[in-house]
Amino acid sequence: MKLRYLFTALLFTGAAAPLQAQSIDHMRKLLQEIQQEIDCLEKEQAETLKPQKEPQPVESTEYVDGVIAVDTLPSGNDAVMIVLFNDNTWKYLRNRDYVKDSEIYTRCWDTTKLFPYRDVVKLADLPRSVDIELVDSLKCYHYPYKAAIRSKFGMRRRRKHQGVDLPLKTGDPIYATFNGKVRISIPSSKSGGYGNLIVIRHDNGLETFYGHLSERIVHADEWVEAGQIIGYGGSTGRSTGPHLHFETRYCGQSFDPERLIDFQSGNLRRETFLLKKSYLDIHSSASQDFEDEEAEANDEKRAEEARKALASAQYHRIRSGDTLGGIAVRYGTTVSRLCQLNGISRTTTLRIGRSLRVR
Ligand SMILES: [Zn+2]
Repeated sequence: MKLRYLFTALLFTGAAAPLQAQSIDHMRKLLQEIQQEIDCLEKEQAETLKPQKEPQPVESTEYVDGVIAVDTLPSGNDAVMIVLFNDNTWKYLRNRDYVKDSEIYTRCWDTTKLFPYRDVVKLADLPRSVDIELVDSLKCYHYPYKAAIRSKFGMRRRRKHQGVDLPLKTGDPIYATFNGKVRISIPSSKSGGYGNLIVIRHDNGLETFYGHLSERIVHADEWVEAGQIIGYGGSTGRSTGPHLHFETRYCGQSFDPERLIDFQSGNLRRETFLLKKSYLDIHSSASQDFEDEEAEANDEKRAEEARKALASAQYHRIRSGDTLGGIAVRYGTTVSRLCQLNGISRTTTLRIGRSLRVR
């Protein structure tokens, strides 16, 4: 009886213990599932609150230069006006009176200093991310220049390349990227390597830099429309070969222009841009150091020369009786040139069967 009681008790505890453990595990699992469900719902809700649309590329607008505005009409919206042109076309344009007093065009506005935000807006003071409406409903955007990039944004040798380099033919038109106001239009002598330089501040708060221009046709404090020709491409300043050095900056800090523009197609990648602080860095408020740009081009030139020299290299197989002098005469060169090409001296013994570079 006593044994039977013990057995039952054992059986009971034996059964109860795993049951308890099982239910705890079960509860844990359930809780986990519920938590996952909540996470999912929260994520979904966040996504509904802030729609994560596929970025919509914006095609470049067409801007026909030489066409003159002849009249303006009200559009029903005071911020927008209808402009009639002398070629019988018309388009909606932003009414400048509505943006001219905005903080964008008054804060740190300096038509001589390249970097007026410096010492005023520190990188540390900027928010972790900023939502930038690149274009408004009128989608005023035009590529600055359309080409395959020759040199990208980022580290180049030991220093930072603050923009992208777009190769061009001298005299090719350069366009204002967005609507805005010209802040800087200065000659080579004042730009420190940028050559003929134009800087435009835009309604969206960004600034764009256009360097090495052959000609500037807009002046500081002038309002410009996206797609308006602001100057012509060239190779002024510290530059080797005609190209546009193009920068995009926010509060003076540079970030990769390729985040905004697909330079090959000329399209703007998206209408709104989430500028993350991680796109900027402590060095990005600095001016472009063009010494590297030149050094890199020189490196390229030297490499190209070396490739060419190697492609046209000619060799002579050394035979018995050959002398450096004899070989030099035969190939129309000099002994010192032969020594230089082969890294040998005049007294080096010529080994039969070896190849000697003669050209
Ligand atoms: Zn550059």
